[in-house]
Amino acid sequence: MDRSFPIKHISILGSTGSIGRNVLEIAAMFPERFVIEALAAKNNIDILAGQIRQFRPKLVSLFDESSADRLQKQLPKDISVQILFGDEGYKAVATHHAVDIVVSSMVGAAGLFPTLAAIRSGKDIALANKETLVMAGEIVMQEARKHNVRILPVDSEHSAVFQCIAGQRPSEIAKILLTASGGPFLNRPGHTFDTIRLADALNHPNWDMGKKITIDSATLMNKGLEVIEAKHLFAISEDRIEVVVHPQSIIHSMVSFHDGSVLAQLGIPDMKGAIAYALSWPERLALKQPVPDFAAIGSLHFQRPDLEKFPCLAYAYEACRKGGTLPAVLNAANEIAVQAFLDSRLPFIRIPDVIRRTMDSHQIDKQPKLSDIKNADQWARLQAGEFINRIESSGKS
Ligand code: MG
Repeated sequence: MDRSFPIKHISILGSTGSIGRNVLEIAAMFPERFVIEALAAKNNIDILAGQIRQFRPKLVSLFDESSADRLQKQLPKDISVQILFGDEGYKAVATHHAVDIVVSSMVGAAGLFPTLAAIRSGKDIALANKETLVMAGEIVMQEARKHNVRILPVDSEHSAVFQCIAGQRPSEIAKILLTASGGPFLNRPGHTFDTIRLADALNHPNWDMGKKITIDSATLMNKGLEVIEAKHLFAISEDRIEVVVHPQSIIHSMVSFHDGSVLAQLGIPDMKGAIAYALSWPERLALKQPVPDFAAIGSLHFQRPDLEKFPCLAYAYEACRKGGTLPAVLNAANEIAVQAFLDSRLPFIRIPDVIRRTMDSHQIDKQPKLSDIKNADQWARLQAGEFINRIESSGKS
């Protein structure tokens, strides 16, 4: 066994989602290298109970007390685990004294505060939760520098960029080229977007992910949020971040340098590679993932994103450029609109309208504190909800 690799003690915020489950699969493959100390989930008791039996964490937390009670009843008596709930419970998982690295993979804005708590207690972060950097990128990166914490990207695109710039001089980077699969509607004519059904949007061609992010991929908002994240993570302005549609998702992203050279990171479209790299960096785990069969693939394809069909990407660039509270507003309005689409209350084609209208009615605070960001987030949720109600009632009349 390779002793040069230190054992890492892990806690996972969002252990029952697709990222969390993949982290645990990797931890199970390398039990001599990873110890699971604490887990947090929303309310998926059945999956969490299984994870507790397998990994024996010391602490778990759920969203509310009734979920915590149900979990307690479901666990065999011989398992001793502390069960908490709510904000304090999530914070305890994020800051547990034995933990070296916190996997931040909760869905949505709820991930921001526990992730910040982890940073402030000096934990390295394997970051999958997009909202942390989208909502409060400046504050989060400032705190990370202050507490000497590393933010290791879990998202495949940012992981690719992180791998491409390793050992390079920041001053020599020209552009970040984020690849996008284009989602299920890349080749669907724009005039047919009004007939898109939920099942069509949930059917992603390459990646197997949660529902929210799958819809975000279909609108290209996912790529927009990734542009905002990349800006903060790599301290580069948005006019030097370009989105390239690459439907095969073999190239996970690229970086160009000022001599015209381009480095790319490639692999099969499976999130395990990026997750494992964030957990084991600067080493690489012997994951035994297959290498793409290039001869079978034949050729790789690229195109520019169509901003008329996918206005969410343009809105994200705008929010990124204007900054302040606007990225948080964009994100919150999107979350509400996507949920309304998932609940069959809002047509797919109206998701961008809700975001646009919410952004237009927002008074941007250019230098927000965390509390201002939180307020802007809450405001945007209510505002977007009102726009959706209006769209819904006009549709019924
Ligand atoms: Mg991604």
